[in-house]
Amino acid sequence: MIREGGCLCGAVRFKAEGEPINVRICHCRNCQKAMGSPFFARALFTQSALTVEGETARYPSSGALDRVFCKTCGTRLFAWRRDGTRAGVALAGFDDRHAFAPTDHIWVTEKMNWVKLDDGLPQYPQAPP
Ligand SMILES: [Zn+2]
Repeated sequence: MIREGGCLCGAVRFKAEGEPINVRICHCRNCQKAMGSPFFARALFTQSALTVEGETARYPSSGALDRVFCKTCGTRLFAWRRDGTRAGVALAGFDDRHAFAPTDHIWVTEKMNWVKLDDGLPQYPQAPP
């Protein structure tokens, strides 16, 4: 199965092939800042499963990770590991925003206080074991 998505303005389009490795919501401070959002909900894929078209820019938010966004509209689409292995794809970027549902919350020690988690999903203080 191939699922498609893109940024707000449409300049960047992507395809994700197959099923994700996992689907998680990250509450870490780094994701909050990078996404300008209380948390980052993403599906993790191998980079080889992803095809990206259009002009993107990137910013290294940590030693391991680049945040990849549309050069025109600024929509943040990917958290791209620089080691070439995997990339997190923003669930909000998929054309079908209901395509995936997260199964875990991670880095909840850095969660914003007013975010109340009552969905019954497992919560991990930092990265899952
Ligand atoms: Zn755009």
